[in-house]
Amino acid sequence: MKRARKYEGHAVGIDLGTTYSCVAVWQEQHCRVEIIHNDQGNRTTPSYVAFTANQRLIGDAAKNQAAANPINTVFDVKRLIGRKYSDPVIKNDLLMWPFKVTAGADDKPMIVRKATRDAGAIAGLNVMRIISEPTAAAIAYGLDKRSDCTGERNIFIFDLGGGTFDVSLLTIKGKVFEVKATAGNTHLGGEDFDNRIVSYFVKEFNRKNTVDISGDARALRRLRSACEKAKRTLSYAVTATIELDVFFKGIDFYSSITRARFEELNMDLFRECLETVDRCITDSNVDKASVHDVVLVGGSSRIPKVQELLQEFFNGKELCKSINPDEAVAYGAAVKAALLTGGSKSSAPNLVLQDVTPLSLGKATMGDVMSVVIPRNTTFPVKKSETFFTVQDNQSHVLEEIYEGERTRASDNNLLGRYTLSGIPPAPKGHPVSICFDLDADGILIVTSEEKTNGNKNQITITNDKGRLSQEEIERLIEEAERYKVEDDKFLEKANSIITLEDYVYDMEKALISSKLCPADKKKLNSAIDKAITLLDDGNKENIENHVFVECLNESKLIFEPIRAKTR
Ligand code: ADP
Ligand code: MG
Repeated sequence: MKRARKYEGHAVGIDLGTTYSCVAVWQEQHCRVEIIHNDQGNRTTPSYVAFTANQRLIGDAAKNQAAANPINTVFDVKRLIGRKYSDPVIKNDLLMWPFKVTAGADDKPMIVRKATRDAGAIAGLNVMRIISEPTAAAIAYGLDKRSDCTGERNIFIFDLGGGTFDVSLLTIKGKVFEVKATAGNTHLGGEDFDNRIVSYFVKEFNRKNTVDISGDARALRRLRSACEKAKRTLSYAVTATIELDVFFKGIDFYSSITRARFEELNMDLFRECLETVDRCITDSNVDKASVHDVVLVGGSSRIPKVQELLQEFFNGKELCKSINPDEAVAYGAAVKAALLTGGSKSSAPNLVLQDVTPLSLGKATMGDVMSVVIPRNTTFPVKKSETFFTVQDNQSHVLEEIYEGERTRASDNNLLGRYTLSGIPPAPKGHPVSICFDLDADGILIVTSEEKTNGNKNQITITNDKGRLSQEEIERLIEEAERYKVEDDKFLEKANSIITLEDYVYDMEKALISSKLCPADKKKLNSAIDKAITLLDDGNKENIENHVFVECLNESKLIFEPIRAKTR
């Protein structure tokens, strides 16, 4: 954290949501956070931008004209951040979006070339830190309850938004937050609940009027926004009405829906949310009875049935809803910003926030083995160095391949980048080369290799939005590592046998050249080396079983050990 310069201006927190965004500001004089209203007087703003012939519209104005101007109205684009155009998840979204996205340089989706940090800079803001949403919500919460924040607290964050669902279990110990487990669904949220109401009313209207409105995009769009409003109403009332004049072919559409019907239409989705909650708790190894606080985040967490099921899951525990769920992230971010500028020394708790690495970070070593440098679940910022050794005599360079993942075979993990360190001075095999993994508070990873005798260095910077994985992919990798554990253990055992045999052959070759051996020993040693090399060079090594390498090593030992004893 750099504190060298004095910050001027306000500390604000921004929640850049997939469907709605929110901005909060820390008010030093009142020691509190305030939500900034938009020009329409609303506390949250739809994450929409639209282009018309003569102007650019944002927020409510853009969303309101979306039905009339579908191809020039851009929404849901947060899903693209950090993803490639060819990403299968994106491919599906593209099919649903009325606006066009094309593949740009480096397979980047072309409407969001600029990621979050750049967007902030373009808006004239000094982006101090990008923090995760649950962490932000937890800060908001920590501020609320700081007086009883002693010992260790387990906090469960339930974030059900417009298009995504995320749950996390965080632990606060002293001043440090740790993410124990996360789970979620990148395509589950308020819009799915809206869809269920839309189909319900489409059926009703079609049936009553013997028409088919399913092809009328404009009518559907109007219906969808009426349904979203009705859904919000149902969070505090037991019935809601929709009134759409001249809805389809001159026919008006007036109808109503009860809360009970709404719940029935969405019950399977609500249950799915609870299954995800259960999975997160199981992964965290924290007993649900030991969860101190359950925090509601995301506009859809206002739905009474969702709250009821969640409360039931936690055996009747009271849920934390003192902060508006759609404002909690911006709220916490504003507090964090105030802490970073040093502006709230007096009032905000001085929390040191730390996230953990969702996957192990490491490099490929000989035989495609993943050598972990920063293990999974390590709190960052963190810096770790390790020394590796050359595998050949006079090796002049090493190709460093940096991976994230839990599999033992490096190439089964996610490749983050590669680079070469050259200029290693001539030396026998086993010459040290150090590698340093430096993961900063924003999750940006800098990997540096260095040959210490001549100071030759090379490095790579891996940012969050360059090839890093989504929550879904992280979960898939972790799940795969568990599934393939037996196979991976076998792979590692064999890789170790091969490396041991290779080292042994090296020793035999050295002895052959440098020691005075009698002709009979020379002959025996030569044939042992030949046999081992033939096996090691076999193009079909993949399919040769571990025991073959172990047996070859044992046979070589029977020959070489007595000879080695004589030379000592
Ligand atoms: P994001 O996913 O963009 O972070 P939010 O957390 O702001 O979004 O949640 C937006 C979603 O919350 C929308 O689908 C909206 O319809 C829904 N929502 C907002 N208020 C309510 C409410 N009172 N009852 C039910 N759903 C609501
Ligand atoms: Mg959100």
